[in-house]
Amino acid sequence: MVSIAGRFAAVRAQLRDAENAAGRLPGSVQLLAVSKTKPAADLAAVYRLGQRHFGENYLQEALKKQQQLAAFDISWHFIGPIQSNKTRPIAENFAWVHSVDRLKIAERLSEQRPDHLPPLNICLQVNISDEATKSGISLAELPDLVRQVEQLPRLRLRGVMAIPEPAADFEAQRIPYRRLYQAATALHRPQLDTFSFGMSGDLLAAVTEGATLVRIGTALFGARPSQ
Ligand SMILES: *Cc1c(COP(=O)(O)O)cnc(C)c1O
Repeated sequence: MVSIAGRFAAVRAQLRDAENAAGRLPGSVQLLAVSKTKPAADLAAVYRLGQRHFGENYLQEALKKQQQLAAFDISWHFIGPIQSNKTRPIAENFAWVHSVDRLKIAERLSEQRPDHLPPLNICLQVNISDEATKSGISLAELPDLVRQVEQLPRLRLRGVMAIPEPAADFEAQRIPYRRLYQAATALHRPQLDTFSFGMSGDLLAAVTEGATLVRIGTALFGARPSQ
C-alpha cells in the first residue's frame, strides 16, 4: 500500500518533471489537491506535508470538512457543478470557484460575497470537447461571458477551467487545452492569469499547453469509490 506521503512526493516530482519537460519555470504550476469523497484526515495528512489549496465538488461534503479543518489555513476551491440555489454558501466559504458557466451564477456569487472577504476568484468553465453531457460554455460564448463577469464588483475573474473528454495519448490530450489557451489569450486580458487545466491522467499535456494550476485527485489520494 502506498502512503499519502509517498503519493504526494510522487505527484510533486511529476509536476516538477512536467514543468521541466515543457520548458516552464519551476513552481509555475500550482497543485490543487482534489479531495472529493476523501475524509478530513486525508486532507490533514497532505496539509502537514505543505499543501494549502484543496478542491471540492460537493457543497455539503465540503462544508463539513471545512468545519472539521477550521484550525487549518486552507484555501478552498469549489470545482463542482453549481445550482443557483446553492451560491450563497459557496460565496461565503470558498476562495476560488472554477466552475462558473453562466452569468446568473456569477451575478449571484458577486451579490452574495461577504464584504469582509476579498473578491471571490473565478474561473469560467469551458466545455472544450463540446460534450453534451458536461457543463461549461462553448468557446464561442467565452468573450461575452468574460466581458460580463469582469464587471461584477465582488468577483475577480482569473481565468478558465476545462475538463476535456478523456483522450488516449499525449498528442490528443494537448489539442483541447491548446485551443482554449489560444482563445483565452486572444482576449488580451492580463488579469486572466489562471489556466485550470489537467487532472491525474493528463497532467503533462496540460502543463505543456500552459496550465498554471492542475487539479489532482486520484494520483494524490488514491482511487475514489465509484459513485
Ligand atoms: C474529480 C475532479 C478532478 C480530479 O480528477 P482525478 O482524475 O482524480 O485527478 C479534477 N477536476 C475536477 C473538476 C474534478 O471533478
